[in-house]
Amino acid sequence: MEQTQHSPIIIAIDGFSSSGKSTMARRLAATVGYRYLDTGAMYRAVTLYALDHGLFLPDSTPDTSAIIAALPSIHIDFAVQPDGTQHTLLNGKDVEAEIRRLRVSEAVSPVAAIAEVRHAMVAKQQELGRDKGIVVDGRDIGTVVFPDAELKIYVDASAETRARRRFKEMVEKGAAVNYEEVLANVVHRDHIDSTRAESPLRRADDAIALDNSEMTLEEQDAWLLEQFRRAAGL
Ligand code: C5P
Repeated sequence: MEQTQHSPIIIAIDGFSSSGKSTMARRLAATVGYRYLDTGAMYRAVTLYALDHGLFLPDSTPDTSAIIAALPSIHIDFAVQPDGTQHTLLNGKDVEAEIRRLRVSEAVSPVAAIAEVRHAMVAKQQELGRDKGIVVDGRDIGTVVFPDAELKIYVDASAETRARRRFKEMVEKGAAVNYEEVLANVVHRDHIDSTRAESPLRRADDAIALDNSEMTLEEQDAWLLEQFRRAAGL
């Protein structure tokens, strides 16, 4: 899209897992020339670190104090690839493929519920968004990370619709998964993400709700671009 002069804004997109928010956030960022920040990738990277360093207890729950102690050793960055996509780096290593595996999806929500983990990630996210001109997706972006974001979207879709999307995505990437397993993971994460004590997923009062269950990608793009134009005063 041709760049129209405007003061850059922050676009916060929150919603349950696999609601299509990353896709819409990424596409909008590319269209309007903004940066894109995938905050879920950051919680996934912390979880991968914890898995690889044995920071889980025998009952598979996170070893909270060990994870908190490890936080200063966990450095997360993003590297833009030649094709324009963004890869997550954990202590300098490209972990983009690894953090999307079911092993990480199954372990991430309890790790993301640890208050100290959230504080560290939120501080980093706020630093990355300081200059605005950014689309940020997550669970607490409009409520906690950027409560003053100029545009807030809250995306919803049924658990089945979201599980079908995630399943299709994983199969396309060659993962050996079954649909029931993916659905169970979606429902389980919904529950943890929306009931945790520390910044649970909820719609900010000033967020615009979008149920995209029946929308095509193109309809969704057009709808979001219109919201962007309005919020940016274009
Ligand atoms: O968005 P994605 O599904 O990749 O996020 C992975 C997990 O990270 C979520 O299930 C949630 O537990 C956590 N998360 C979070 N806050 C965010 C983004 C993600 O708690 N802002």
